[in-house]
Amino acid sequence: MPKYFFLSFFIFLVQAATSQLLIKNTNVIDVENNKMLIGYDVLVENGRITSVVKTTAASRDPMATQVIDGGGKYLIPGLADAHVHFFQTGGLFTRPDAIDLRKYQPYDKELKWAHDHMEDLLRLYTSAGITSVIDPGSSFHFLQQKDSFANKTYAPVIKMSGPLLTTFVPDPFKDLGNESPFILMTSEEQTREAVRSELPYKPDFIKIWYIVRGPNIDSSARINLPFVKAVIDEAHKNNLRVAVHATQRITAQLAAEAGADYLVHSVDDEVISNDFVQLLKKKNVVLCPTLIVAGNYMKVLSNNYHFTDEELKLTHPVPAASIKNYPGLDTAIANPIIKRVTSRKANRQLADSIMAVNLKKLIDAGVIIATGTDAGNLGTQHASSYFIELEAMRQAGLNNWQLLQASTINAAKVLGAQNEWGSIAKGKIANMVLLNANPLDGLVNWRKIDWIINKGVPLKPESVRK
Ligand SMILES: [Zn+2]
Repeated sequence: MPKYFFLSFFIFLVQAATSQLLIKNTNVIDVENNKMLIGYDVLVENGRITSVVKTTAASRDPMATQVIDGGGKYLIPGLADAHVHFFQTGGLFTRPDAIDLRKYQPYDKELKWAHDHMEDLLRLYTSAGITSVIDPGSSFHFLQQKDSFANKTYAPVIKMSGPLLTTFVPDPFKDLGNESPFILMTSEEQTREAVRSELPYKPDFIKIWYIVRGPNIDSSARINLPFVKAVIDEAHKNNLRVAVHATQRITAQLAAEAGADYLVHSVDDEVISNDFVQLLKKKNVVLCPTLIVAGNYMKVLSNNYHFTDEELKLTHPVPAASIKNYPGLDTAIANPIIKRVTSRKANRQLADSIMAVNLKKLIDAGVIIATGTDAGNLGTQHASSYFIELEAMRQAGLNNWQLLQASTINAAKVLGAQNEWGSIAKGKIANMVLLNANPLDGLVNWRKIDWIINKGVPLKPESVRK
C-alpha cells in the first residue's frame, strides 16, 4: 500500500520537524556550577533537553531539525517566579480587606476577571522569559482551572497550592465557597481534615498563613503553633511540601523548627541571628524574600505609585488603569487612607532595610533563596514586577550569579523539582531563554530576549502576548 506508506512517512517527517530543535554554537549559562559554557549546542526533542555538547567542526544539524543560531548569544534556563497569586489581579480592587471599593467593583466580579484573564497573565509571564510560576495560595476553582493550561505552549509551568490554611479570615473573604482563598483552622483534628479536603483537587503543595495578632506576637505565635504542626504533619504524610507565610522572626523560626519547607517572605521585624540562619540551612528551607510587595501596598494606597514605561510593556492594562485612577474614584474613601498610610512610611522603610540586611546574611551563609514577587497583590503586577524585585535583590547585595540561581534552579528546589527544570541539562524540560546580551553583565540584559523556548517550542516574545 504505497499510498498509506507515503502518508505515514509524511506524518513522521512533520512530527520529527516539530519536535526537534537545535540551538547551535551558543553560550550556555550553567547555574549549577556557576560557569559559562562557551560555544555549545543544545538539542531539544519532544519538549526535553537531550544533549548539551561543545560545538565542533564536525557538528552537523540532525535531519528534520529546526536550528536556531545561538552565535554571540546567551542561553539561560527559563526564569521562575516562586511566589504569585492568580486569584489576585494586582489592581485596586483585589484586596477589599486593605481598601474596600466593592461598591465600584463587587468582589465576585473581580474574581471573575481574574479567571477570565488568567491566560493573558500567563502569556505575559512567558513573554518575559518566566517559564515557571509557583502560586502559594489559590482556591479550589483556580486549582481546577490550572490544569487547562498544562499543555499550552504559551503558558509557563504552573505549580499551585490550594486555599491558605489560616487562623484568621478577613471579612471580605468569608463564605466564598469554591472561590475561597482561605480555610479557617479551628482545632488540630479539623485542621488535619482541612488538609485532607484539599487532596482531591491535587494541589502541588500546602500553604499556611501564619498570622499573629495582638500586642504579644510571641504568645500569639505559640498559641497557633499546634495548627501549624498539624498541617505540616498531615501534608508530609501525604507527600506534600508546606509553604508558610511568616514575616516575624518568631513565626518563621517556629515554622522552620516544625518542618516547614518553604518560607514565602523575609523576616522584617528584626535582624536575624546566626542561629536562625543555621536553622534554615540545616533544614534545607527555601526562602523567598518578596522585597517589594509590602512597599507597593504603601505606594499605591498613599497615592505614590508611578509606573515606568519599561514596566508598562509587561503589565496588563486593566489592573494598571485601576491604580492610575486612584484616588479619584472615591476621594472620601481614599483620603483618610492616604493620611494613615503616609504616616507609617518610616516603619515601612525600617522593615524594608531589615529585609535587605537579612537577605544578605542568608545568601552569604548559603541558604537557598528563590526569586518571587507575591504578584497579584495590590500594586505588585503579574510579570512586570519580577524585574523590580530582582533589582531590589541586587541592591540588597546579590551578585548576578546569585540572582540567576535564585531565579532558576533555586525556585525549582521549592518543590523538589530541580531534576525536572531549573537548569540547562540533559533530561530536563526544555524551558530556556536565548538572550542577545550577557546576563552576567547586568539585569538590563535579562530583558533582551531573542527567543523563549517554552516546553520545547521556540517563541518570539511579541508573538506570545495577545
Ligand atoms: Zn503571597
